[in-house]
Amino acid sequence: MDLRDTPEQAAFRREVRTWLERNLPEGWREGKVREPEDAAERVAFLKRWQRKLFEGGWAGLNWPKEYGGRAIGTIEYLIWAEEYTRLEAPNMINLSVGTALVGPTVIAHGKPWQKERFLQKILTGEEIWCQGFSEPNAGSDLASLRTRGEVRGDKIVVTGQKTWTSFAHQADWCILVVRTDPTSVRHKGLSFLLVDMRSPGITIRPLVEMTGEAWFNEVFFDGCEVPLENVVGTVDRGWDIVMHTLAHERGSSAQHARLAAEVERLMEIARKTPRADGTTAAQDPLVRQKLMDFAAQNLILRMTAYRNASTIEKHGVPGPEGSTLKILWSSLDQRVKEFAVDLMGPAALVRRGDDLAIDDGYWAYEALWSRAATIYAGTSEVQRNIIATRVLGLPR
Ligand SMILES: Cc1cc2nc3c(=O)[nH]c(=O)nc-3n(C[C@H](O)[C@H](O)[C@H](O)COP(=O)(O)OP(=O)(O)OC[C@H]3O[C@@H](n4cnc5c(N)ncnc54)[C@H](O)[C@@H]3O)c2cc1C
Repeated sequence: MDLRDTPEQAAFRREVRTWLERNLPEGWREGKVREPEDAAERVAFLKRWQRKLFEGGWAGLNWPKEYGGRAIGTIEYLIWAEEYTRLEAPNMINLSVGTALVGPTVIAHGKPWQKERFLQKILTGEEIWCQGFSEPNAGSDLASLRTRGEVRGDKIVVTGQKTWTSFAHQADWCILVVRTDPTSVRHKGLSFLLVDMRSPGITIRPLVEMTGEAWFNEVFFDGCEVPLENVVGTVDRGWDIVMHTLAHERGSSAQHARLAAEVERLMEIARKTPRADGTTAAQDPLVRQKLMDFAAQNLILRMTAYRNASTIEKHGVPGPEGSTLKILWSSLDQRVKEFAVDLMGPAALVRRGDDLAIDDGYWAYEALWSRAATIYAGTSEVQRNIIATRVLGLPR
């Protein structure tokens, strides 16, 4: 496979770069402006940025044109992500759930009114979404979920608990999976709902992570009424839709672009880190070997990302190879962050806002946050099971 851009791809890369350079929030590139620390201010800042992306035609790039997207190919999407990461643009607020999961699911399985009502507001950032799948006793084994949905006339009455629900405290809507057939077991008898997070009967309790942030939540449903028309697909037949959503969660990824930038930053830090003997860390052969190892591993990651993208281009959906990509980037990510802490010593753990913090506390935050990468979107053990059975053909 030729990994160089075709002339069309090179032109697209230039277009992305130019637009971003001209439209990033004022002061962003100079490091004078950054995402606010206050959660509410951060959401407002990121919603403004999302609106700008939408108006510039850069939201929902891989969505079909009829739903406000650009219908670009998967390789072009990787190019976009590479450039976006290279310029360290602000986070896209509705990316990981709204744009990546809800949009493609509603486009494929939603009713016409659901498409009309929900899709554009995802791209504009007017409505933020969360994903209510995991429960205290149903994570990797999602089919064992127990949150009940009782069909009563034109409503489904939901009772139960979800957990680890990212953004629930900021979200307007939720994709929720509930058991509507009480006699059913496992993946049968489930329904896929679109739930207004402001409905009566919902209690959201943020969970504080070791980073100090409250990113995800426990969500309790106590007789919460959801209109029956908010079911995606058919009542009791939600599992296929869940599978569709999860395939997108493990699909394409341009983590290599972020890791490449981080390895570059570590090289720069190594050059500036003095050693007792008057040399710098960059002159230490063990440090050099580590950095080169990361650079080589990251090249493998990039090629795997492109291979995965071409599978998606050919077959329309991500294949089980997406699991290889997930394991590769999440484990490399953790190793890079562990090394960063070793390289910088205790200073790497000083948080944002402190004068001693390196890179404004970036590494302190990332060293802790990277632990989550081998858990969310399917744990590494589960990804290995998928590779074993579906790629290598080993028995269950
Ligand atoms: C940062 C973060 C954000 C998240 N956001 C969301 C969200 O927005 N919405 C949502 O619904 N969920 C979310 N999750 C939850 C996530 O999907 C689950 O944590 C994940 O699926 C694992 O489930 P669990 O935590 O219940 O662990 P378990 O499934 O109980 O697993 C515990 C351990 O057992 C291992 N294990 C389990 N089954 C097997 C098996 N068959 N073979 C081998 N090993 C196995 C696992 O790998 C793990 O090490 C988030 C998680 C994190 C960390």
